Amino acid sequence: MPPSILIADRLAEHVRRGHPWLYRDVLPPGAFPARTGDIVEVRSKENKVLGRALFDAESPIALRLLTTRPSEGVDRALILRRVAQAWSLRHATLDLSLTTGFRVVHGEGDRLPGVVVDRYAGFLVVKLDTPAWLPHLPLLVEALQEVIQPQGIYLKGVLHAEESVSGARVLAGEAPPDEIVIFESGIKLAVDVIRGQKTGFFLDQRDNRAVILRCAHGRNVLNLFSYTGGFSLAAACGGATRVTSVDIARGAVEGARRNLGLNGFDPEQHGLVVADAFDYLTDCATHARQFDLVIVDPPSFAPSERVVKRALHAYTRLNTRAIRQVTPGGLLAASSCSSHVSLEDFVQSLRESAAEARRIVRVLEVRTEPADHPVPLHFPEGKYLKFVLAVVE
Ligand code: SAH
Repeated sequence: MPPSILIADRLAEHVRRGHPWLYRDVLPPGAFPARTGDIVEVRSKENKVLGRALFDAESPIALRLLTTRPSEGVDRALILRRVAQAWSLRHATLDLSLTTGFRVVHGEGDRLPGVVVDRYAGFLVVKLDTPAWLPHLPLLVEALQEVIQPQGIYLKGVLHAEESVSGARVLAGEAPPDEIVIFESGIKLAVDVIRGQKTGFFLDQRDNRAVILRCAHGRNVLNLFSYTGGFSLAAACGGATRVTSVDIARGAVEGARRNLGLNGFDPEQHGLVVADAFDYLTDCATHARQFDLVIVDPPSFAPSERVVKRALHAYTRLNTRAIRQVTPGGLLAASSCSSHVSLEDFVQSLRESAAEARRIVRVLEVRTEPADHPVPLHFPEGKYLKFVLAVVE
C-alpha cells in the first residue's frame, strides 16, 4: 500500500479545483509515514482518492499534486505525457521561428510542480524547487530526451527547505558551453547558464521586452537593473538613440556590452554603468538628467509574505525617483517579480510614487507572464510578474 493521507473537505475542494499544493500545517500532526520523494495518495474524508502527490518532509509545502485523476498513476508514462504536453503547448503558443530561449516546463503551470526546465538553443537547464524530485529525476531526464532531444541537459540546482541550493551538474549529453547564444524575438542574446542568475536569463520578460522594442524609437532610454541587457537590446533594436544600462553586478554589465556587440551595436555609443540603481538615480537628479523611457525591473523586494509592507515602500521610493527622471511626455516601464506583491498593491504603490513625484501618470499597458509561464487559475500564488507601461506628463 502506498502512503496515503485523508484531508478535510475544504482542502479537498482546493485539490479538485487544481490547487497543486498542500501545506505541512494542514497534515495530521505527528509522524507521517512517508519519506521525501515518496508518492502519497491524497484521499477525501470518505476515503476516495483525490490525487497523488510528491512528499517533501522538510518544506512547508509538504505535498505537490502530480495528478488529480484517481485512475492516473505516477510513473514514467505520466512524466512523459506532461513533458510532451508542455512541449506542444509551447509550439502552439510561441513564435519559435524567432525565439530559441523559452521555458519548456513551468512547474505547477505544466502539472509538474516543483520542476522548471528552460531551453537555451540546444540545451535544457533544469531547476528543482524540492529534493523530492531527485528520486524521479532519471524519469524526467528520459522524458526530456525523448521529447526534445537536446544537445545536453544541465541541472542548475535543487532548492532545499532551508533555502540552500545544491547539486548543479550535467544530467545528460554535453556540458553547456560558457556562452550559449539564443534568439529572442530575433534578438541575439548570449547566456551563461552556469554562472548566470536563475537558469541563465529572465525569459519571463520576453513579451514585455517586445513592448519596449515597439515604443523605444527615437528615445534616450535608461534601463535600471539591466542584468545582461535584455530590455536594453529590445530598446536598441527598436531604434532608441541611446540606451544606458545600469546594474550593480559587473558581470551583468559586461553581458550587456557583449549583447550589444552581438547585435551589431557599438557599445561605446551606449551607457554601461556598474552602479547601485538608487545611487544612479540620485546622480541623475543632481545633474538634472532625464530620459524619454525609463525601465525599472528590480529583483524581488519581497522574498516572503512578512516583508511585503517594507517591499511596497521600496517599490514606491524607487519608482518615485524613476518617475522624476522621465522627460515630460516620456515613458515609464515599471516591473515587479515578487509573487507576494499583488498587481493591485503594485499599482497602488505606483500611484503613491506619481503623487510623491508630482507628476501625472497615465497607464498604457498592464502585463504579466508570457504563455510559456502558465498559471493554474486556482493557484493565485503562482502569479508573480507585473509590468506597467505608463506615460508621464
Ligand atoms: N531586467 C533584467 C532582469 C533584472 S534581474 C532582464 O530583463 O533580463 C535584477 C538585476 O538587478 C540583477 O542583474 C541584479 O544584479 C541587479 N541588482 C540587484 N540590486 C541592484 C541594485 N541595488 N542596483 C542595481 N542593480 C541591482
